[in-house]
Amino acid sequence: MEAIAKPLPRVTPELAPLFAAARERKLVVQRCSGCGQLRFPPRELCSHCWSRESTWTPVSGRGEVFSFYWMHQIYHPGFAVEVPYAVVIVALDEGPHVLSNMVDCSREELRVGLPVEVTFQDASPEVTLPKFRPRR
Ligand SMILES: [Zn+2]
Repeated sequence: MEAIAKPLPRVTPELAPLFAAARERKLVVQRCSGCGQLRFPPRELCSHCWSRESTWTPVSGRGEVFSFYWMHQIYHPGFAVEVPYAVVIVALDEGPHVLSNMVDCSREELRVGLPVEVTFQDASPEVTLPKFRPRR
């Protein structure tokens, strides 16, 4: 059976800095220029002070599992060979929460509070995806 490609995020102008950094194996988040709050996912408006100004700043890529679930449902045939796979919300050490996937992690190992670190998967020439793995 031929593998079916997964849908990938579209690299919009707003997301371009995130994907450019990921290609260089760096995780970046937005820092509000008005109040200094770090935020992820990227967005135009700060939910704390309503400023539209922000810069991008690198973060450690380290944090812990805030929440997770094992995906069994196949919503797109591109994911069929991977179910069940782990969807996680990671609380970065710097504060922002990132929705991603776990890699190199067993069912028995995954738990809330598990220390994790970012790793990167090249999905296409334009898109490199930040994923997380247990910190060992
Ligand atoms: Zn702000």
